[in-house]
Parts: sequence; structure tokens; C-alpha cells
Amino acid sequence: MSNSDQIQRFLFDDTDIRGVLVGLQDSYQEVLSRHDYPIKIESLLGEMLAAVGLLSSTLKFEGRLSLMARGDGPVTMLMAESNHQQDLRAVARWQGDLPETADIVGILGQGQLAITIEPDKGNRYQGIVPLQKASLAQCLEDYFLQSEQLATRIFLAADGEAAAGMLLQALPSNDSHGSDEEMQESWDRITHLGSTLSCQELLMLTNDELLHRLYHEETVRLFDADDLRFACDCSRERSLKVLKTLATEELEEMLESQGSITMDCQFCNSRYRFDRTSIAEIQGVSGAVGPSESCH
Ligand SMILES: [Zn+2]
Repeated sequence: MSNSDQIQRFLFDDTDIRGVLVGLQDSYQEVLSRHDYPIKIESLLGEMLAAVGLLSSTLKFEGRLSLMARGDGPVTMLMAESNHQQDLRAVARWQGDLPETADIVGILGQGQLAITIEPDKGNRYQGIVPLQKASLAQCLEDYFLQSEQLATRIFLAADGEAAAGMLLQALPSNDSHGSDEEMQESWDRITHLGSTLSCQELLMLTNDELLHRLYHEETVRLFDADDLRFACDCSRERSLKVLKTLATEELEEMLESQGSITMDCQFCNSRYRFDRTSIAEIQGVSGAVGPSESCH
């Protein structure tokens, strides 16, 4: 079994290439238990979670990172999020029957993959790549090359039980260990070895076994692993904040037709209910959406 619910970085000591391994089990199962997903979506969500775990290892600040794929195909949306505390959550939407294909374009149709980084302090950043490759991993490689000019290889696997991923990345070459040719050779060798890894191996081997299987001839420095977990940071307060952005008339309309306003968290299914009194409170002006306004 791969190192479950852990993320672990490693470095090739003699060259400027870094790596990250992620393995998910309990956190992945927690995500799947919130909705009744078809197996194909379970696999895709596992890949999304493993990917966002790998990407979050590059976060050097406090904040949130999300990965969202949208398309006009049978699966309309896949989303996974992580933060600097290594909390993970994910959700998918789909319609009708799913195709047999494993090709991401066949499943999501024409669409795009957005990587959004939201630091708690500072500006939001978003990078977007079109869904033009066969797999999520390849679309992400495009993102790193286009947005960050970093040569990257990503391997993802998920089977509804466990999910795992490996990232290999060439570091910016300012304080390079050797010449460009040497670096290219190392990159070709290390990524070629990486590509010999089967999905089964990625899911089943421990990080030690996996690195030995691929890189026993390299000098690999393995850092301490960090734990990952499923966690949803939705709250009554956050839902109220969303309601605050709506116009008074809109809120009034919802209260009129439903008696109260309910907001369900799409990630964890928590339900938040707001009656007329609590809505009036968030308006900050007593009577802004008060009973008197609804009298006809
Ligand atoms: Zn939630």
C-alpha cells in the first residue's frame, strides 16, 4: 500500500530535479462517501485529489489551491481543493450516461482546466489551460510548462479505493549542478524511468519501495512526510457571507416562495438554513427584509 493520506517530497541530490509523492485512502473515501458517484467519476475525483495534493506541495504561503475542470461533455465539472494545512475536499457534477472512454476530452468534452491560488493575504492567481490532452496529468503538465515555464511530469492513478500521484519537476536552473546538456540527460533518464511505473505500482507500493524500484541508481533525498486529510471548511458564517452578496429583492423572493433559505455545501452536504430573522440580521438594517415588507 502506498503511504496513505501522506504527501512526501524528494530531491535528486546530483541534479536539479525534485519530486513529490502523494497517496490517498481515508481522505479519498471520505470525499466519495458524500455523494453517490459512478465508478468512472470516483476514479477521476481520485486523480483530481491526488493532483491537488501534489500541487499544494508547491504552496509556500497560507491559503487555498483549487483545481477545476469544466466541459460541455457528460461530466460537466470536477473540482478539488487543498489548503496549506493539507485539508482536501472535492466534488463532481455529471449528467446522463458516461462514455466508456478514459480520455478526459471524451468525458468532459470541450472545456478547460483552471488552477486557482488564493493566498489568505495577497492577490488571487488563476492559470487556465484548455482540455486538449488525453489525461488530467498531461493537461497539468501543459499548465506548468505554459504558466510557470517548468518542465514537469505528472503521474496519477485512482481506482475508487485509493488514489496516488507522483510529480517530477525540473527546478529553475539559476544555481545549476551542471551544464544544460547534463541537466537534459538527467531529466530524460529520470522521467523515462518514471514513465515505466504502472498505475498498479503507483497505487500499491510504499514510497520507499517505489523510489527504490525506479531510482535505486540515483541519489534520492526523501523528506519527512506530511499528513493529508479530508476537511471541509464550510460554515454558517461563510454561507451568510454568500447570501450577503445577493440583492434584497432576491432574498425576499426566496423567503416568500420557500419560507426560509437553505444552502447545502456541495462538498460535504452540510445544510445551513436561514429564516427571515437571520436574513434580516445579516442585512444589518432591521426590517430590510423584515416581515413588514412582505405584507401585501
Ligand atoms: Zn462543507
